[in-house]
Amino acid sequence: MLESTIAVTSSPDSSSAPAGPARGSLVIVSSPSGAGKTTLTRRLLADHDTLDFSVSYTTRTQRPGERDGIDYHFVDKPTFDRMVAGGELAEHFVVHGNHYGTARAPIDDAIRRGRDMIFDVDYQGAQALASQWPADSVRIFILPPDLKTLASRLRTRATDSDEVIERRLRKAIEELRHFVDYDHLIVNERLDEAYDVLRAIYLTRRYGPHDRDDVALPLAELAARVEANRARDPQAHARRLIDEPHG
Ligand code: 5GP
Repeated sequence: MLESTIAVTSSPDSSSAPAGPARGSLVIVSSPSGAGKTTLTRRLLADHDTLDFSVSYTTRTQRPGERDGIDYHFVDKPTFDRMVAGGELAEHFVVHGNHYGTARAPIDDAIRRGRDMIFDVDYQGAQALASQWPADSVRIFILPPDLKTLASRLRTRATDSDEVIERRLRKAIEELRHFVDYDHLIVNERLDEAYDVLRAIYLTRRYGPHDRDDVALPLAELAARVEANRARDPQAHARRLIDEPHG
């Protein structure tokens, strides 16, 4: 496995002018809940200061441990509606009965400054963002190894009833059906391996597939990792998951 800490040659003010392209990218990550998306995206963010998290707006209630303004902007429905009416949101949808939306201004700003943004959005949000920034977006879908694992992850994360778990599982399978819209699929069987693929996708997207003097990273090796992931045919895995009996 590659070293987790990476050194990238950049200008003294790396927060505004990181090494890499003049234009930033939208790194859009979706998955059914329970597939490990949050863990993977948070780790990528922690390891790369060229990347900012897109903090969504939501009308859902804040969960214990969540921080307003960091995990989400928690807003009431009238505030959300005002943002929609004012054209402030690049996309907004109802997910699991709550409203979620992505602000437009931080995206334009990041792209212009050459910074990348990572989005944790559902398939509808992913489609909407990629259709507005087609050349700037890379879409990544995280898959669970199997539905049994997904169900047990859903069970351990909440104190919900069997009925709620079953509903989430059905919803997860529905989400899985949209895998075809994504540029990359990653099967999260072992977290470290899934992370290595995610990071390779991100870094080769930012810096290209060839080693560079100003980037102290084996980019060609990372590009090979992305190809190896494709060659494993994660699409077939996704199709099997959708067809798998789930009670
Ligand atoms: P949760 O409420 O569990 O954090 O998220 C529920 C779902 O909403 C997840 O699939 C998450 O990716 C999605 N989501 C979070 N923020 C946004 C957003 O701004 N737009 C869209 N379309 N989906 C979002």
